[in-house]
Amino acid sequence: MVGGPGTGKTSLLVGAAAARIAAGLAPESVLLLTGSARLNATARALVTGALLANGPAAVREPMVRTVHSYAFAVLRLAAQRNGDPPPRLVTSAEQDGIIRELLAGDVEDGANASVTWPRHLLPALGTVGFANELRDLLARCTERGVEPPALQRIGRRAGRPEWVAAGQFAQVYEQVMLLRSAVGMAAPQATVPALGAAELVGAALDAFAADPALLAAERSRIRLLLVDDAQNLDPQAALLVRLLAAGAQLAVVAGDPNESVFGYRGADPALLGAAGDHPTIVLGESHRCAAAVARAVTGIASRLPGVGDARHLTSADGRVGSVAVRIAASERAEAAVIADALRRAHLVDGVPWSQMAVVVRSMPRSGTGLARALTVAGVPVAQQASAGPLAEMPAVAALLTVLDVVCDGLDGERALALLTGPIGRVDPVSLRQLRRTLRRVASDDTPREFADLLVDALDPRRPVAGDVPDQLARALKLVRKVLAAASRSQADGLDPRFTLWQAWHQTGLQRRWLAAAERAGTAGNQAGRDLDGVTALFDVAEQYVTHTTGASLTGFVDHVRSMVLPVGGGEPAGGGDAVAVLSAHAALGREWEFVVIAGLQEGLWPNVVPRGGVLGTQQLVDVLDGIVDGTSTRAPLLAEERRLLVAALGRARSRVLVTAVDGDEGDDAMMPSPFCDELAALATEPSDADVEPVRAPRVLAPAAVVGRLRAVVCAPDGVVADDVRATAARQLARLAEAGVPGADPAHWYASKTPSTDLPLWDGDEHVVTLSPSTLQTLSDCPLRWLLERHGGDDARDVRSALGTLVHALVSDGEKTEGQMLAKLESVWEELPFDAAWFAANELDRHRTMLSAFLQWRAQTRHELTEVGTEVEVEGVVVPPGVDQPGVRVRGRVDRLERDAEGRLVVVDVKTGKSPVTKDDAQQHAQLAMYQLAIAEGVLPQGDQAGGGRLVYLGKIGVAGAAERDQNPMTADGREEWRARVQQAAEATKGPQFVARVNDGCAHCPVRATCPAQAALGGRP
Ligand code: SF4
Repeated sequence: MVGGPGTGKTSLLVGAAAARIAAGLAPESVLLLTGSARLNATARALVTGALLANGPAAVREPMVRTVHSYAFAVLRLAAQRNGDPPPRLVTSAEQDGIIRELLAGDVEDGANASVTWPRHLLPALGTVGFANELRDLLARCTERGVEPPALQRIGRRAGRPEWVAAGQFAQVYEQVMLLRSAVGMAAPQATVPALGAAELVGAALDAFAADPALLAAERSRIRLLLVDDAQNLDPQAALLVRLLAAGAQLAVVAGDPNESVFGYRGADPALLGAAGDHPTIVLGESHRCAAAVARAVTGIASRLPGVGDARHLTSADGRVGSVAVRIAASERAEAAVIADALRRAHLVDGVPWSQMAVVVRSMPRSGTGLARALTVAGVPVAQQASAGPLAEMPAVAALLTVLDVVCDGLDGERALALLTGPIGRVDPVSLRQLRRTLRRVASDDTPREFADLLVDALDPRRPVAGDVPDQLARALKLVRKVLAAASRSQADGLDPRFTLWQAWHQTGLQRRWLAAAERAGTAGNQAGRDLDGVTALFDVAEQYVTHTTGASLTGFVDHVRSMVLPVGGGEPAGGGDAVAVLSAHAALGREWEFVVIAGLQEGLWPNVVPRGGVLGTQQLVDVLDGIVDGTSTRAPLLAEERRLLVAALGRARSRVLVTAVDGDEGDDAMMPSPFCDELAALATEPSDADVEPVRAPRVLAPAAVVGRLRAVVCAPDGVVADDVRATAARQLARLAEAGVPGADPAHWYASKTPSTDLPLWDGDEHVVTLSPSTLQTLSDCPLRWLLERHGGDDARDVRSALGTLVHALVSDGEKTEGQMLAKLESVWEELPFDAAWFAANELDRHRTMLSAFLQWRAQTRHELTEVGTEVEVEGVVVPPGVDQPGVRVRGRVDRLERDAEGRLVVVDVKTGKSPVTKDDAQQHAQLAMYQLAIAEGVLPQGDQAGGGRLVYLGKIGVAGAAERDQNPMTADGREEWRARVQQAAEATKGPQFVARVNDGCAHCPVRATCPAQAALGGRP
C-alpha cells in the first residue's frame, strides 16, 4: 500500500487490525512493525488502544514494534529455547566508547597497530567525528551482511585503503565484542552475546536460519503482519519482513517511497516496489493536506527520477489552503518575514502557536540562529533539546550525583555539588553564610574543612543545627530526603529505574519545572530542557535495565557517563504553546496547521555534497548496492533531498510558506535553491521571486508597529499627507489606550515642554546649603549636580555602598584589625554584586585597604593627633550679600587631626584607585571648603586651618597608601575660596544649567541624557 502524506496509511493498517480482531483473530496474532522509532510512547498507546477497542484488555505480545525491537524479541526467544542467557544490546553510546578506545589504542601503538590506517587519516583517529563515521560505516556493512574480510577485499579491489583499514578494524572490534560477551561490562557474571543495533536484524535472521522451528513458530503465531513506514527499512529488515510475510494470512506493507529520506542510514524503499504478483493499493487522497499543499507535494514529487506510484496527491476535503514563496535580502530580513507570517497567523487568524512549525534543512547551520531571531521578534519558540552529552546536563548531573552517593557514599565534593546544584539551589552567598554557621557550631572541635562539615550536615542521623538560617535548613533537609529515599530503594534491592525515580520524586523539581515551562521565557525554556534531560535519563535507564543482564546502579551510572556523544534532539523542549523550530528529519511523523520551510538555499537544500566524509561511506554503500562507477553520485543525493522536501511539505495541513535569501550581506553571497523556483511556480499567492528581495520587512509586533506609526506622526512637514498623519495618530491613540508601551506621547523622549522657566530659588538673603563634596561637582558641571540631585544618581551603585562601608569601618578607632576584617566579611554578603568572582576579588582588595589604613594611621601618629572621626561641620561660611547668595556648609569630615602647631588638619579617606595630581590636590574643592569652614570659625575645635590630606587606600606604594596634601589656607586663599564657593552657590539657581565637559564625564551617571555628550557624538 503506497500513498503520500496524510493519505491514511497508518489509519488503514490500524483499522485492518481492529477489524480482524473484532472478527475473532487473537491479538497475539497481529504484529504491526514500523520502520522508524517515531511511533513514540503516545502514538504507540493510541494505536494499541484502537486495536484493542473491541478486543480483550491485555495481550501477551506487544502488537506495535519497531523492526529492531521485534528482532531483539526473536533473539530473546531463541536464547530461551536454547537455555542461553538473554542477549544484551550494546547501545550506540557504548559502541562509541569501545570504538574510541580501540582507535586510541591504534594511535598509541603507531606503526605496530593491528590496523593499518592510511597516513592521511591518522590525525583524525582521536576525534569524536571519526568514531561516529566509523560506527556508521560498520553499521551499513552489517545491515548489508558484509563481513570484515569481505570489506577488506572490496577495499582492495576499489583501491580504497580506508575501507581495507575499516575491515581490519571491524575484525578487531568483533573479537573485542566476543571477549566482552564473555566478561560483560556491567555484570561480570554475564556470558551473553552483546549486539549493536545494526546487528540485531542480521542476528535474528541468523537465529531463524539456525532454528527453522523458531521461524515456523513465529510464522504460525503471526497471522496478520502489518508494516508501516516501510520506506525506512534497510535491506536486511526487508528480508525479515519477507520471511514473516510468507507465513501470514495477510501481510500489508505500507509506506511512501517519495518520503524515503534515510538513505544515508541504509534505508532502501525497494520493499515497497516489490509486491510482485500481489496487489498494490495506491492511496492518492490526503486527509491532512489542503488542495494547495497537495498540489505542491505533487509538483515536487513528480520530478523525482523514474516512475513511481503515489506521486499524485489530491486533497480529500474542500479546503483550499495556501502555498507562498518569499525571498529576503538577508538572513535577518528572512527571520523578520517568518516572524511576521507567524505572528499574523496567530493574532489575525487565531492559529495556536503549537500548530505552527519552522522546518529547516540543518539546525546547526540555520535553525539555531533563526530560533533566536524569532524569539526576539516576539514568537514563542520551543527550543530543541540540548545537543550536549546527557551526563553534562545540570539536572542529569545532579541525579547521577545522588546515585553516586548511594553507590559509594558521600564526600565533600558530592555534598557541595548536591547543595549548590538544582536540588539544593544554595547560591554562593548563602553558602558562605552556611560555612560560617557550620564553623561556629563546630567551633569546639579542632578546625575542620568545610567539605567535611557539609558531609556531617547532610548526615540524616544528626539534627540540623538550630542556628542554620531557615532557607539553608530547608535545602539541607531536602538533599537529605532525596539521598535517604534513593538509599532506601537501593537497600530494598530495587533496580536502578526505581532508585532513580525515588530520587527524582523527592526532589520536587518536576512540579517546579513544569510550572516554569508553562510560563515560557528564558527560565521556561531552561526548565523545558531540564525536563527533557531527565526524561532522556529515564529512557536510558529503561533501555539499560531491559537490555542488561544483572543491571546494577554503578553500571547504570557508568553507562550514562560513557555516553560521550550528544543525546539526540528528540521532541523540542518546552512543550506548551510554542512554535517548533526543527530539522526536516526531526519533523517526520508530525503535522501542523502552518509550516514554514526556511532556508531553501543553494548548497544547503539540496545538499549534494557526498555523505560519508573521510571514509567514503556513501560510495561504499553505492558499491555494495551495485551502483557502478561512472554513475553520477549527485543524482541519488539530489533525489533524496527532493524527497526530504516532499516530506517537509507533507507536514502542513493548510498553509506553507517557503523562504530563502537572495543577497550578498556577510561573508558569502546567498542564492535561493532551484527548489524555490519550482515552488514559486506552484504557489497560490503571487510570488515575489521576480521582484527585489525584501530588505526590511514589516513585522506585526508591538514595538515595530508603534515605531512605524511614530515615524509617520513625527515626520517633517510635507513628507507625509495630512490624512495619513492623522490616521497614524488615531491608531497610536488606540494603542496607547490599550496600554501598548511607547504609544502614549506622554512617554516620548523630549516630547514635554518645560513646566516652568522660574529659577530654583530667588529673593534676597537666600542662603544655599552646600556639602563640600557637591562643591566639586558644581564646579565641574552644574548640570550633573542638578540631575544627580534629582534622581540621576544610582543609589544602588555597589561602588558607593563599598565606599560607605570602608568609611564606616575606619571611623571606629577602637577596633582592632581582626575585628575590622570580621565586620567587613559579615556585611559583604549584603552587597549587590553581579558576580561571585568579582565579589571575591573586591573582598581581597578591601581587606588590603583596611590594612593600608591602619598602617597609615600608625605612621602618622608622630605628627598628627586624632581630634575626631566623622566630625560634623555645619555653619555659614559666606553671608548673603546684595544679589549674592549666602553659603552654608554642611558635611562630615572623615578625620579631623591636630598637627604639632595645634592647627586642625582635614583628612579625607579615598577608596578609589587613581589619586589626583599634586597640583590638583592644592585646588581640591572638598578639602578647601573644610579648611574655609575652619578658618571661618564654624568648628568648635579651633579656627586655625592646618591643611588637608587625601589618603588613597586603593593605591598602595612601598611607603603605604598614597597621600596628596593641600597647604594650609592662607588669607588670600580664604578670599579666593569664599568667591568660588559663592559662585558655585549661584550656579544652583537656574533655570539654566551648564553641561561642562570634564575629566569625570566617563563616570557620570547621567551621561546618557547629557546634551554636551550628544553634541560631541558621545551617544548614538
Ligand atoms: S557627562 Fe559630563 S558634561 Fe555631561 S552632565 Fe555628566 S559631567 Fe556634565
